[in-house]
Amino acid sequence: MSDQLKKRVGKIKDKFTGMKKGDGTPMSRQQIHMLRKRARGICWICSEPAIPDGYFCLRHQIAARERMRKKLGCKKRYKGSESYVLKAQQKPTKKKKKTR
Ligand SMILES: [Zn+2]
Repeated sequence: MSDQLKKRVGKIKDKFTGMKKGDGTPMSRQQIHMLRKRARGICWICSEPAIPDGYFCLRHQIAARERMRKKLGCKKRYKGSESYVLKAQQKPTKKKKKTR
């Protein structure tokens, strides 16, 4: 049997294994984990499909936005930003009113 069919034990070996940061120090496991998720285009937090060119799914993108707003004390809202636009595009799945 080929090695590919063997059950994987131990560390993952891919292009991210043993990756180094800009200053030459090795990346932490957590950072590599996030890079792997980034490469697969899934949310860093919940592994749902991420928004295009984003790190998170829409739900976590909004959560991250609101967290940073709070931290930075922002008053303005950039309504044209991707997370607002995508939220507006999203069809409301819950709170459906019955017509009959
Ligand atoms: Zn998510």
